[in-house]
Amino acid sequence: MRKILVSECLYGEKRVRYDGKKKEESHPLFLKWKKEGRLVPVCPEVFGGLPVPRPDAQRRGNRIINRNGEDVTAEYTAGAMEALRLANEHDVLFCIMKQNSPSCGSRQIYDGSFSGRKIPGEGLAVEMLRSEGYKVFGEDEMEEAADYFEKVDNSI
Ligand code: SF4
Repeated sequence: MRKILVSECLYGEKRVRYDGKKKEESHPLFLKWKKEGRLVPVCPEVFGGLPVPRPDAQRRGNRIINRNGEDVTAEYTAGAMEALRLANEHDVLFCIMKQNSPSCGSRQIYDGSFSGRKIPGEGLAVEMLRSEGYKVFGEDEMEEAADYFEKVDNSI
């Protein structure tokens, strides 16, 4: 059975977000794939050794800076590499990642000023996944992901 890489906070079994809150995805397609055992949950930030809760962080160019002004690029990079390793290990068909995150955002992220402003961009883990050729959707693109799934799964 072909697998789908997903952000662990969307998967919802563990509390992994910076604020310790849940963001469990309830879209019927996501729940169907979860029930089928297709989903491979990854949290790049926890993989990188960061605690829950933790200060929120934002992307500034190629660096990741947290709210306290600390550079956490190394942790984010290590975690992104582990997410990529798991995508390869499970030979995933595509990915569904949490929008806006400095790791998992796929279309927009916060602008690095901690003012709440969002800009077009992607998180570090998503950038790495895409550079290896993986297709990445946000949780707000579930129908598009399903169309892609149908198209690609039928062609292999
Ligand atoms: S790094 Fe990704 S999976 Fe982990 S809490 Fe943030 S958005 Fe969710």
